[in-house]
Amino acid sequence: ARRHTPNSYQFYSAQMNAQLQERLTLESHLSRALERNELQLHYQPRIESHSGKIVSVEALLRWNSRELGAISPAKFIPIAEANGLIVPIGEWVLRTACTQHRLWQQAGLPPLRMAVNLSARQLAQPNLVERITSILEETQIQPQDLELEVTESLMMDNVQQSILKLQQFREMGIKLALDDFGTGYSSLNYLRSFPIDTLKIDRSFIRDVVSNAHNAAVTNAIITLAKSLRLNITAEGVETAEQCEYIKAQGCHEIQGYYFSPPLPKEAMTELLAKQTVT
Ligand code: C2E
Ligand code: CA
Ligand code: CA
Ligand code: CA
Repeated sequence: ARRHTPNSYQFYSAQMNAQLQERLTLESHLSRALERNELQLHYQPRIESHSGKIVSVEALLRWNSRELGAISPAKFIPIAEANGLIVPIGEWVLRTACTQHRLWQQAGLPPLRMAVNLSARQLAQPNLVERITSILEETQIQPQDLELEVTESLMMDNVQQSILKLQQFREMGIKLALDDFGTGYSSLNYLRSFPIDTLKIDRSFIRDVVSNAHNAAVTNAIITLAKSLRLNITAEGVETAEQCEYIKAQGCHEIQGYYFSPPLPKEAMTELLAKQTVT
């Protein structure tokens, strides 16, 4: 039967093999990344609109593989999510971010919220609440200084279970943000029942909010909606002064993006926070 296989199929199959091969290579290296200390967190500051001060940072995972070099999270996180590695990696992220928060507070740097991304696989873990409780105890950070970022599609995996977990976090005092809002499901119906504090407007809306009337209309509608639900609003992906001014004028509370700073290694983030203490 092989002889009759059309060329296009052979080509497709060769491509599939290459993709599969790449994936397997990534997977096997990723499985050793933790123990080999190849993972790092970078921190991106968020500026409070009215004060211009850094009030929170988002922890963003970086992987520098000894053999493969730097791999973007967009590439390796879906793999870790699919094979379950995201569970131990995600726990490392939480512990590392909370430990760093503690160090900054001990150094007398300004009060700060630490935002950490949660994946669907993590949220589905039956003992996630206990794990986070013990990390908070271990690292001595206040629950209200931790913000967990979840996405709508993550919530939709098992809506009722997810809502119950988020409610537990909320009762503990942990802050919750809905990430990438406006992409994916946009389940406006569920929005009311999600126990969240903050909506993060996806950067695809911010991108041409100044030049594109349609994007501006959607962004304004999201902000109006968030306000009526008494949610905080964070804009992500703010790259220019015009975008910043626009989004501020609309009443957005916190702003994150290259306009202020890219995600930074901890040393550079420490310097930035120290500067803010002086001024
Ligand atoms: P995200 O949670 O939406 O994070 C924001 C992404 O936008 C980050 O990409 C950040 O570097 C990038 N970004 C920030 N400001 C700007 C800007 O002004 N312009 C543009 N074009 N981009 C900007 P990054 O670090 O590559 O992370 C990609 C995604 O990987 C994150 O998207 C998040 O979904 C996921 N991720 C990163 N770290 C973690 C983690 O520790 N756990 C989990 N589960 N997911 C993570
Ligand atoms: Ca995020
Ligand atoms: Ca986001
Ligand atoms: Ca995203």
